[in-house]
Amino acid sequence: MQLRLIAASDMVPFVDSLIAAQRIAGPQKRAGAVAFDDLSAGRELRLEYTTTTLPPKKFVMPPRERLFSFSRGDTLEVTAPAAPEPLVLFGVHPCDLAALQLLNRAMTDTHCDPNWAARWESLTIVGVDCMPDEWCFCASMGTCKPVAGFDLFLTDVGDDYVVQIGSDEGRALLEAHATVKDATGAEQALAEFEEQKLRSFSKSLTVEKKQLPLLFTKLQDSPVWEAQAKSCLACGTCNLACPTCFCFDVWDTMELNMREGSRSRRWDGCLLKDFAAVASGENFREESSGRFRHRYFRKFDYLPTRLEGLYCVGCARCSSRCWRTATTSAA
Ligand code: SF4
Ligand code: SF4
Repeated sequence: MQLRLIAASDMVPFVDSLIAAQRIAGPQKRAGAVAFDDLSAGRELRLEYTTTTLPPKKFVMPPRERLFSFSRGDTLEVTAPAAPEPLVLFGVHPCDLAALQLLNRAMTDTHCDPNWAARWESLTIVGVDCMPDEWCFCASMGTCKPVAGFDLFLTDVGDDYVVQIGSDEGRALLEAHATVKDATGAEQALAEFEEQKLRSFSKSLTVEKKQLPLLFTKLQDSPVWEAQAKSCLACGTCNLACPTCFCFDVWDTMELNMREGSRSRRWDGCLLKDFAAVASGENFREESSGRFRHRYFRKFDYLPTRLEGLYCVGCARCSSRCWRTATTSAA
C-alpha cells in the first residue's frame, strides 16, 4: 500500500478543490449530530465523528427511489432512470467500508441490481479512521481496520493525515486536488494509531467471530428470542440504521390517465409487523419473537451461508439507537 501525508491545514483546500470539480458528500453537522450529506464547502466536513445514525449506504441505495417509468400505448415503453452523477463519498469509517463491500456482494450476486450497480460504479470512496465510542464492537467483527473498498484512506496522526492509496483513481484524485508530502514516519504513526484504537474499545463479543455461525445453528428454539422481543416496539429503527440491511418494498404508481406510471422502492425492515404479510392475509412472522430471531439469523446464518461473510460489522447503530438498550443503559 502506498502512503502519503497531507497536512491537516491542507485538508479543507483539498476538499474545496474536489467540490469545484464534482459532486462530493461527507459527514457534517446536522441538527446537533453528524450526518452524511452533499458538501458545498470544505469547512463543512467533520472528519472527527463517531457513528452517523444513517450509514453512507444511502448514497448507493437511497431510502426511496424510482426504479423506472413506463408508458402503455400500442407497446409498453420502459424508461430507466438517468445515469447517476459521479460521486466522491468522503469520510467513510472502516466498518462502513466493510458494510458497503457486503452490500455490493448481496446486490450483485445472483441477480445484479442495475440501480445499485450504476451508483456503485460512479463512486469514489475516501475513508477515514476513527476511535470507538462506548457502543462500537467492530474489533470483534474484524472491521475496525480498513482492508479494501476505498480509493483513499485517511488517518489523523496529529498535524498530518496519513493517506493510504487504494486505487489508481484515488492516486489521480490526490494528484489533481491535494498538496501531498512524502510519507516520512507514516508507517510508525499508523501503527501507533492502530494500537491506541485497539486499546480504546469498551465493548467486545464474548465469542470469536468465526464461532458465531455454529452458535446460531443451536439457537433456533432458544427462549432468548421471546424474552428479548418482549420489549421490542417493532419500530424498525435497527433495520433502517443498519449499514448491511438491504431489504426493500416495491410499489407501482399509475397516473390518472391509466397509461403512464412508475415503479419505486423504499427501505423496508424485517422487524416491522407487516414485513412478512402476504396478499392473501397471512403473516409468516406475526409474532415479534419470530421477527427478532429472523433478523439475527439473517446476519449470522442465512446470508453468511449464501454469500460468505457475517452481515454485521459491529457499528452498534442497532443497539445505540434502540430505545430498549438506551433504557437499560440509563438504568
Ligand atoms: S430498534 Fe429496538 S425496539 Fe425498534 S424494532 Fe429494533 S429491536 Fe425493536
Ligand atoms: S446488526 Fe447492528 S451492529 Fe451489526 S452492522 Fe447492523 S447496525 Fe451495525
